[in-house]
Amino acid sequence: MTAAPTELNKSTESSELTELTDPRTGRPRGTATLSREPEVAAAVAAARIALAEWSALTPKDRGRRLDRLAALIEEHADRYAAREQAGTGKPGAETAGEIEQVVDLFRFYATAARTRTVPASGRLVAGHESWVRWEPIGVVGVIVPWNYPLLMAAWRCAPALAAGNTVVAKPAETTPDSLELLAEHAARALGAGVLQSLPGDRRTGRLLVESAVDMVAFTGSGRAGADVAARAGTRRVSLELGGNAPAIILPDAPADTYASLAEAATYNAGQSCAAPARVITLAENYEDTVAGLAAALGSRLAGRDFGPLNNPDQAARYDRLVASSTAKRNLAAGIAPDADGARGNWRPARLLADLVYDDPAVTEEVFGPLLTVQQAQDTEAALALANSVPQALGASVWTTDLETGLDLVARLNAGEAWLNCHLVQTAELPHGGRGTSGHGTDLSVLALQEYQRPKTVTVRVTR
Ligand code: NAD
Repeated sequence: MTAAPTELNKSTESSELTELTDPRTGRPRGTATLSREPEVAAAVAAARIALAEWSALTPKDRGRRLDRLAALIEEHADRYAAREQAGTGKPGAETAGEIEQVVDLFRFYATAARTRTVPASGRLVAGHESWVRWEPIGVVGVIVPWNYPLLMAAWRCAPALAAGNTVVAKPAETTPDSLELLAEHAARALGAGVLQSLPGDRRTGRLLVESAVDMVAFTGSGRAGADVAARAGTRRVSLELGGNAPAIILPDAPADTYASLAEAATYNAGQSCAAPARVITLAENYEDTVAGLAAALGSRLAGRDFGPLNNPDQAARYDRLVASSTAKRNLAAGIAPDADGARGNWRPARLLADLVYDDPAVTEEVFGPLLTVQQAQDTEAALALANSVPQALGASVWTTDLETGLDLVARLNAGEAWLNCHLVQTAELPHGGRGTSGHGTDLSVLALQEYQRPKTVTVRVTR
């Protein structure tokens, strides 16, 4: 697992199989391939061959094929849902909503492929005509985590494909199911080799980074992201890493604040990179907030309202952070009676209050159905607490005073900030982090540029 790059390059080891486990029951649910060097090399070579034809398509024709892929996903939504649920244990409503978003995303990029946000072109230097060609990077290696196996893959693959690249995408070890189906449909809709799935573990990920790909788009933990960046050398890397979002609740917050935050914190069992994690109040509304959030979280049952944690490692990480917390109040909600609490990775919604400012559950990303609550003397101190961790992905402010809310939103260190809502996203709006949350851009027309590079052409003209 920790072999140096040179050793990896020399490896001729071929694929192995890994046991997959149902996170709801802890029972085995089949096996998946762990791709090794021969499979990585073959996938990248096939993507390189497919690149010539795919990148030469007009944006209109590329868009048409991406539309066809969106239609296939929509037509087979039930099959995608079954695969997504097998790997994650998510409730049906969450899965259905995410598949709808994936369909919308491919449709959005089918159209966005035909748009451009370009620098000026024309007669910019006397006697010369200039313009910019936006060219694909080439073969993109995409590596995604297990929290939204299909959606995170779509966030990366749809704009990369729309921009004219071919893609080799590696799912997380525990959730290879839906990306495999997407690659099957992509072979039909887009052409052979244009989008391939490369199942495997972190060693497969490293092999993909060290293969002949032209760019790596990585979504996952900060630690793995740093390793990817180090191994990628001078090739372009897009990093979407961990979050640890603050939610500042002021005394004049809207009435539905606690319910909205409890829902966002438990959606996908809190395993969302931008999920609210650190609630910050003023001293004057601290007790009300602790009581309000405890009641709202208390009504959210694991196994009824949200799914299990994805895998035993994640559950162990969550347990370690809860156990090491200094919180004097540790309030856990319940697990639905029919969830297999003994063997599945079920964890209840939880509130930690009365803790020190550098509590591990505050400074580290918990990535579970958990909120911490901290208090500050005034609004400035609340903002300072919000900006006091190295992650800077999402953040929210809850107040009915629009002027204060907009001022705080402007000063929050985050790539995405919400006022009186949290986790509201759509294909048109960019998502990305700052600080240790990475520097990539997902979603929106801006993500097209993530996977393209400009070539400036200047022509001397006589008239
Ligand atoms: P992880 O980093 O362990 O794994 C993510 C993926 O990278 C997996 O496919 C894994 O096999 C692979 N991988 C791991 N180490 C690697 C390495 N050294 N080289 C190449 N590939 C490697 O992360 P995880 O625990 O699966 O996912 C959860 C994390 O992802 C959280 O921190 C979460 O915040 C983050 N995330 C971020 C965003 C975002 O948009 N910023 C979105 C979703 C998830």
